[in-house]
Amino acid sequence: MQFAQIVGQELLKQKLIQNVNENRLAHATMILGAEGTGTLALALALAQYLMCEDRQENDSCGTCSQCVKNAKMIHPDLHFMYPNIKKDSSDKIQASTTWIKEWRETILHNPYVNVTDWINILGKGDNKQGNITKGDCHETIKKLSLKTYESKYKIQIIWMAEYLGLEGNTLLKLIEEPPADTIFLLVVENIEQVINTIISRTQIIKVPQIEDIDMKNILVTKYEVSEESAKKICRISDGSFYTALKMLDGDENINDELVMLFLKCSFRKAFKQADAAKLMEEMVTQFATLGREKQKNFCKYALFYLRECMLLRQGMNTKLEGAELDYAKKTIAYINEDQFEKIHLIINKLHYHIERNAAPKSQMMSTLLQASRILAGEHVLVTS
Ligand SMILES: [Zn+2]
Repeated sequence: MQFAQIVGQELLKQKLIQNVNENRLAHATMILGAEGTGTLALALALAQYLMCEDRQENDSCGTCSQCVKNAKMIHPDLHFMYPNIKKDSSDKIQASTTWIKEWRETILHNPYVNVTDWINILGKGDNKQGNITKGDCHETIKKLSLKTYESKYKIQIIWMAEYLGLEGNTLLKLIEEPPADTIFLLVVENIEQVINTIISRTQIIKVPQIEDIDMKNILVTKYEVSEESAKKICRISDGSFYTALKMLDGDENINDELVMLFLKCSFRKAFKQADAAKLMEEMVTQFATLGREKQKNFCKYALFYLRECMLLRQGMNTKLEGAELDYAKKTIAYINEDQFEKIHLIINKLHYHIERNAAPKSQMMSTLLQASRILAGEHVLVTS
């Protein structure tokens, strides 16, 4: 992958290129950023740049044999580890290499994929837990002890290195004193889940959210989205290109109306109005018929809407407009900050469960009941 294929992040790309050219790239580098910011894409582009035989000022050449193999993720000196699951009951080691075909297909199609989607692909929607095992670490140690095949460098990308857990200790010595010309690129979303002994041995490169303008331009030019829709998608995506891609087939106007319906029936239930049950039924049915991807989009939109309401309540600038802004102005008169925060948390949980294939009807019903209790001023314990 070339840097040019990555959405935005221009300053960071320059910094990485400079690090390579000035020989300042650490042997163990952690690329740290939120979901959808392009951390894995940056690691892939960096690996290709390191191996390229004809490095250009701003990117790898894209045509030398090293680049061609990197672009297909088939370079023999480019190794991967990622969360994975057992193939079947006879799978004793549970290693990343077992899934290399699926890995290449998935990442070449979308390097912005998140770990839940990835594990869902491996488990065929069966709600499995992925991890990186000790066996996987031992395979890596063996692989990296061999000499390089074609490149000056051996590069080990560990995607979602937080999934190493304590197994990370197995790799410590290697990360601390890697064999000659071996580079570790650890791609991480949640640094608090990485063991300290690993953190202290890596140089951390922080990846910021993607700028709306960069995301909008790509959506318009590459994905042929209208300017107006692209703008709407960007404001909900919160700097994540993963979310933006998910929103592509969504209909923001449906989300708009559904959030209003969600708040309306939570209010009616909270204040024990006669039509509450009927409205809740309607909300649950509409939500259930959306299908999983659109249900997640609804959650993302609701999270955006609630965030913006909180800003509006504090008298700050908001990205809301038109009917949604009018409704938000009415809403903030009845919901205080604490309630907004709690509803934000329960929608976040709803998203979490829907992503993990929970039944949408019962999830939405219990979210609605919780929201109505929060709005009624009852004490509801909500944890993140
Ligand atoms: Zn090249």
